[in-house]
Amino acid sequence: MAGITLDRVVKRYGKLEVVHGIDLEIGHNEFVVLVGPSGCGKSTTLRMIAGLEDISDGDIRIGERVVNDLPPRKRNVSMVFQNYALYPHMNVRDNLGFGLKIAGQPAKVIEERVAEAAGILGLSELMDRIPAELSGGQRQRVAMGRAIVRHPDAFLFDEPLSNLDAKLRVQMRTEIKKLHGKVATTVVYVTHDQVEAMTLADRIVVMKDGYIEQVGTPMEVFNHPVNTFVASFIGSPP
Ligand code: ADP
Ligand code: MG
Repeated sequence: MAGITLDRVVKRYGKLEVVHGIDLEIGHNEFVVLVGPSGCGKSTTLRMIAGLEDISDGDIRIGERVVNDLPPRKRNVSMVFQNYALYPHMNVRDNLGFGLKIAGQPAKVIEERVAEAAGILGLSELMDRIPAELSGGQRQRVAMGRAIVRHPDAFLFDEPLSNLDAKLRVQMRTEIKKLHGKVATTVVYVTHDQVEAMTLADRIVVMKDGYIEQVGTPMEVFNHPVNTFVASFIGSPP
């Protein structure tokens, strides 16, 4: 059980500040989408939550814990990347279980968790295939399965669908939403695609130039944009 809190979080690369002291509270089990134009700081924010980037100032909490100084593996969050690099020589079963094996989990736990994830994602019939024998959507599901087996407090997605064709993208959106229904967990999802944000999110966080412009449900933001930037980005009627 863990929400995520960002408290005046700043990111600087040398002298260049790219995230300017943002505040955000993400509830346990909430599906929050960070959306905004390229370069506005979405990935940086997600990577700071994951522990892949240090924060320059402020605090990040996952549940009750301040995680500022914890390495990624101790934060109990799982990141799903855009380029879902699966191990090409391993079958689906071994791809799903590999992270747990590296973490030293007993074989029985690995077997149970892998079977559970495969069930959730509809991969049970595909366990003996290697990635080359899978469709793009199936590979994406294996990538999500690798996150699920770790039983994380939160899933972090960075534009996971942007390499897929339009039809598959729509299909995978539905699958990700279903997944969130089945595996009750907190999700932080980054996209530059307004439609994706509007369809997936419990709440959307609209970012611009390292600031949060607005936070709200898709309908709140669509119907009551706080400024012209949000209105034009989300496509609200003038
Ligand atoms: P987004 O994901 O919204 O497209 P990013 O978080 O990747 O944006 O980048 C935000 C800003 O930080 C951009 O101006 C980008 O050029 C800059 N940036 C990202 N990573 C680095 C880095 N390692 N060094 C310097 N600047 C960076
Ligand atoms: Mg990005």
